[in-house]
Amino acid sequence: MPLFEYECNKCGHKTEFLEKSDNKKKHVCEKCGSSDMQKVFSTFFAGSGSKSSSCPTGTCPLN
Ligand SMILES: [Zn+2]
Repeated sequence: MPLFEYECNKCGHKTEFLEKSDNKKKHVCEKCGSSDMQKVFSTFFAGSGSKSSSCPTGTCPLN
């Protein structure tokens, strides 16, 4: 099941929600109760590309 992280625009609290395709409900911050939340793309999705993972030591000449 897809798990998405949302950040509250009001208090900055981050909450993870399971998102189902049939669930059209708005996410609500568990800390302040605000529904003004935006989706955060975690490092799980954005982590690739910043560092070469083909060379474990980082000293390979071809990198
Ligand atoms: Zn909040």
